[in-house]
Order: sequence, then structure tokens, then C-alpha cells
Amino acid sequence: MLDLVSLIDLLATPQQIVITTHHKPDGDAMGSSLGLYNCLIQLGHHAKVIAPTDYPDFLTWMPGNEDVIIYTENTQQSADLIANAALIFCLDFNNLSRINEMGELVRASKALKVMIDHHLEPEDFDDYRHWDIKACATAQLVYDFIANQLDHKELINADVATCLYTGIMTDSASFRLPNTTSAVHRVVADLIDAGAVNWRIHELVYNSANENRLRFLGHCLTNCLEILPEYNTAIIAVSKQDIEKYDVNTGDTEGIVNYALAIASIRLAAFIVERDDKVKLSLRSKAEFPANEICKKYFNGGGHRNAAGGQSNDSLEEVINQFKLILPEYKKLLIQ
Ligand code: 5GP
Ligand code: MN
Repeated sequence: MLDLVSLIDLLATPQQIVITTHHKPDGDAMGSSLGLYNCLIQLGHHAKVIAPTDYPDFLTWMPGNEDVIIYTENTQQSADLIANAALIFCLDFNNLSRINEMGELVRASKALKVMIDHHLEPEDFDDYRHWDIKACATAQLVYDFIANQLDHKELINADVATCLYTGIMTDSASFRLPNTTSAVHRVVADLIDAGAVNWRIHELVYNSANENRLRFLGHCLTNCLEILPEYNTAIIAVSKQDIEKYDVNTGDTEGIVNYALAIASIRLAAFIVERDDKVKLSLRSKAEFPANEICKKYFNGGGHRNAAGGQSNDSLEEVINQFKLILPEYKKLLIQ
């Protein structure tokens, strides 16, 4: 274990640092990682962000993105950096399985590991932990880590603020989820004061789609949406053929599940998509309904109460049927 004083001491001299986050990184994963990166380079550290896989185009505009290494495209360089790091920051995940093959490299590295995260049930692989499941985003915890734990609020410049704002905005569904407290809004206000241009960030993330993406959304809502009124549940299931037909890229499916929640009666929405090697589920729920419980119990996944994910090696049809068969168990919660 590493205490905060020793961590601060270590960070007082330039170190080889790796920052990593979960596979298929989302806005909070990349925002947290690049926010911390832009802070650490100001202290003279040799820091590198390594993403386990690629990530959507609507996240590639963030400051520092040009220096990110994608593990699957640079395995040897990534492995060397991980092996030689003094410190590895693990952001927005708490189980090494979330970073695929990189997990075992991180575990084997002599580096001290710092976990900053807001997911349930952390695995015990870290040396220092800033973990709070009440945080709306890991980016909120990175802000707290820099400003309060390291006592370096002055390092939150426009680049850091822009990245952290992106993380909080995306993970809180644009400041809408129940965990977007007044304290979160105070952090966001600080980030805007530090130079995050809020309206511009919204444009870059949410209004940057191409025509295909919008046509694909139309297809999902018109042809793939199934409503199960007796369970207040909606399913959007998408086949591999649809993905190919609409030339769907990484990130193009993100957020589509939320459209189903726009129906007043819907408590639970599932987006089920057939990928090359597996079927991936994204669940979203309203209020108290535990979407993460279904993912953990039945689909080898997990997540937050209102936003969770999982996967299966069964066929798309089988996964849809399996999902429907689970609903009676939750009927009470779904119709109350
Ligand atoms: P998404 O539906 O956007 O892929 O994921 C929503 C949330 O569910 C993520 O922020 C993450 O916390 C969680 N999640 C998604 N997929 C998995 C998975 O395979 N395993 C675990 N443990 N959590 C997941
Ligand atoms: Mn997050």
C-alpha cells in the first residue's frame, strides 16, 4: 500500500508514468486519462496514455490525443512502457479484465498502481486508491485528486479542464443523472472558469456525426425497436448485417439505447448488438432499477445501477430470448 504522502513525494520528481483506462474507452475514460496526462506533463513527468483499444472519432479532438498510444496497434511499445513505468494510473475501471491482455502486463509490472474510479466492487490490484461510487464520473475524482489530494489546483489549465469537463458531461448524460449533485456543478463551474468552453465541447461530442450515423439511428428506431409493454422494457437489437450495411464504426452505436428511455413508460432499455466475436449488451434504466445486476448475473458484465453492460458468446437470437426470459424475475420492479 502507498499512502498519499508517499505518492506526493514520488510525484515531486519526474517519473516514467503510464495512464490507462478501460477497453473501448468512452468520454469519461479518455477525458479522465487526458485530463490527468495534461496535468502530469506540467510537472515534468514522462507520461503516456495507453488505450487498450481504439475509441470513437468524437473523442479524438481532446488536447493531448495526438500522444495517445493504442495498445492493439503498438503492443511492443506499450508492453515496454508498462514494464518500465514507476507509476501506472488506472482510470475509470477497477478490474484488470477491463483492459484485456494489458491486464496481465499491468499486474506483472513493478510499477506502483494508482486506481481512480467510481465502479462497484474493485479488484485488489492497486497500491493507492481514490475510489468513490457516488462520483458521477471518474473525471470528477481526477479533479478532486489534482485539486485537493495533490493540492495543485493551479495545474487545472484550459487543456486539463477541457478533458475533465468532457468526462463529466458524457458520464452524467449531460448533467442529467441523479448523481449530478450541486458539488458536481461547482466542479464544472471551476472547469469553465479554468478555460473549458462548454458549448464547444457539446458540439464536438454530440453534433459531430456523419450522415450514416443518423441514418443508422433512424433504422434502429424504425426497424429494430421492440417494446414489451408488460415489462415497461424496450429492446433495440442490431445484427452484424445492419452494422455492415450502415458502415457503423466504433462509437456510432453509443447513446442509441438512451432513445428508448425517452418513452415515458419505459424503465429498462437494452441495446443488443452482434459484433464479430460476441454479442454486446448495453442496458440503461430509470431510477432504482438495477441494470448492473442483470449484466453481472447473466451477461458476464457489470457497471452502474442505471448504465451497465455485458456480453455473451451465444447468437443474437439466443441473447434476445435469454434477456426476455429474465424479465419476469424483475417484473415487480419494472411495473411498480
Ligand atoms: P456501455 O453500455 O456504454 O458499453 O457501458 C455502460 C457502463 O457499463 C460502462 O460505463 C461500464 O461501467 C459498464 N460496462 C459495460 N460493459 C461492461 C462489461 O463487459 N463488464 C463490466 N464489468 N462493466 C461493463
Ligand atoms: Mn466513468
